[in-house]
Amino acid sequence: MSDIIQLLPDHVANQIAAGEVVQRPASVVKELLENAIDANATVIKLIVKDAGKTLVQVIDNGKGMSATDARLSFERHATSKIRSADDLFSLNTKGFRGEALASIAAIAHVELKSKQDVDELGTLIAIEGSEIKTQEVTVTPTGTSIAVKHLFFNIPARRNFLKSNTVELRHIIDEFHRVALTHPKIAFSMYHNGSEIFNLHESNYRQRIVNIFGTKTNEKLVPVEESTEVLTISGFVGKPEFAKKSKSEQFFFVNNRFIKSAYLHHAVNAAFEGLIKDGNQPIYFLNLTVDPKSIDINIHPTKTEIKFDDEYTLYAILRSSIKHSLGQFNIAPVLDFDHHINLDTPYDYKDKGATTPTVEVDRNYNPFKQEQIATRQNPAFRKPTPESWESLYVGLESKSTRDKQDFSHIEFESEPEKTSLFDGGLYVESTQSTYQFQNKYIISTIKSGMLMIDQNRAHQRILYEGLLKSMTVKEAVSQQLLFPLQLHFTGSELSILTQLKDDLEATGFVFSNIDDELVEIIGLPINVPDSEVSIILEQLISDVEQEVPDSNFSASDLLAKSMARSLAIKTGQSLTNLEQEHLVNSLFACKEPSVSPSNRTTFITMSIDEVDRKFT
Ligand code: ADP
Ligand code: MG
Repeated sequence: MSDIIQLLPDHVANQIAAGEVVQRPASVVKELLENAIDANATVIKLIVKDAGKTLVQVIDNGKGMSATDARLSFERHATSKIRSADDLFSLNTKGFRGEALASIAAIAHVELKSKQDVDELGTLIAIEGSEIKTQEVTVTPTGTSIAVKHLFFNIPARRNFLKSNTVELRHIIDEFHRVALTHPKIAFSMYHNGSEIFNLHESNYRQRIVNIFGTKTNEKLVPVEESTEVLTISGFVGKPEFAKKSKSEQFFFVNNRFIKSAYLHHAVNAAFEGLIKDGNQPIYFLNLTVDPKSIDINIHPTKTEIKFDDEYTLYAILRSSIKHSLGQFNIAPVLDFDHHINLDTPYDYKDKGATTPTVEVDRNYNPFKQEQIATRQNPAFRKPTPESWESLYVGLESKSTRDKQDFSHIEFESEPEKTSLFDGGLYVESTQSTYQFQNKYIISTIKSGMLMIDQNRAHQRILYEGLLKSMTVKEAVSQQLLFPLQLHFTGSELSILTQLKDDLEATGFVFSNIDDELVEIIGLPINVPDSEVSIILEQLISDVEQEVPDSNFSASDLLAKSMARSLAIKTGQSLTNLEQEHLVNSLFACKEPSVSPSNRTTFITMSIDEVDRKFT
């Protein structure tokens, strides 16, 4: 039998490998910029034509290459950056695989000019599809210029696959941002079709952010600094009030590399929990420095993911240092989303104006006596319509709330243990009344003291259990839409939606079409207003995308959590007494009333003893 295995000719092997490194013009931009930085350049210029489809050129004033090195730089696995596998663990350069130039040269027309400081003359090399066309001596300044023309000229399929110029330019600018943010001490400029898009001088980090994202950014930034044994954090987060829908101003850099990490993103979000509206995105520019040995750096060249040895610690440190910064800069009090001007005024004074310091001490006033509390609610607050409120509870049994009220009274003066409270029987008085505090907490009484409930978290818990239930028993009721809703999604969003279709249907969604053209919805869960649908679905998709990699992914659980979050009454929303009571009762009808779906405390209790002690 004859042998059938052959080595691929170099140019074919190179083209295949090139596909890995170079996916679009932005990949070329990234590789060339990083090479310039590795060459210790202090001034780097990026020139782009037709969103990089015609030309990507990077000119640097770095250390340049000798004639031999210039030739060698186009060979696969030719690198000056590591010598042995051990070097991988002490890596402080961007590149190390020695693949980029070889790959780019395999699929484009490349012209390189380079000169070292010690040399009089430099080298010019022209190479097309891995074939050297010219190598000669040339007059050129110290540094390197690499021009990449006609990308994918020999792979038409790839070329056709490129997106519109707008999209490709967006990708290029994203790469440019990432590199420029990592190196504020380096001057960067960028030109597209002859016009200057960026001109960034040497600066500090804050100035660099502002130079890229606009002068208004300055007032938004809160510094974050933390230094521990395992991790150093420096950078900025945006003040919560500037959070927005888009994720365009979220940057993590680990050891000066831009990375994407759903896990760390989650940690930042956790620090902002309760400070920004659901669905809004915090702004952050965070640089983490860790021991290179503690991360897996041998990552795929086109991927921006990274693996940490000790994720849990990083998560905790990151979250707490951001919280700390937000607290230090007094961000926390500015939280009323609906902007009730009176929010911080004691209720009794509200309508009387600030000049009425009637702090009468009513010795007979008993804060645990129901009627008195009930009358203290401010009538000026906006009230949601009862129907909309009630509709949130469709599917929840009201009967079980009755049952829970029959709990016998227990003592919990010392060490109240949350979980046992309900098994042992927490007694919600039947003549119950409630009181809303700061449009955020519901205060109610229990036999032995008082109860403070976080309205948003509590409602999430209620909705979450309701949704899970309707998904498991598939008994959801839907409202039919008079006019079908038509929504558009990108390919990856669509694939997430398709995965979740069954579960969505179990909650009451009815789809008449899901394909790349169009998602058409003809029925909705009864408690979902059609104006909210696109927000809910977008939130859901982004929750799935950002799902913490370690946690056990369960589509229906995630869907229930996400929808509960979108639909739950928010902090800042005022509730009537009836609504408050309903919330309290429904919460205690839940299986796990003490925590929100994301495991946060939904209520705290304070016994009379504790209160008494405060008065000693
Ligand atoms: P890597 O960056 O992984 O080493 P590349 O293919 O990107 O691989 O580059 C190959 C080599 O060419 C580099 O190791 C470096 O020695 C040299 N080189 C590339 N670009 C430049 C530049 N702008 N200035 C100086 N040397 C460069
Ligand atoms: Mg490189």
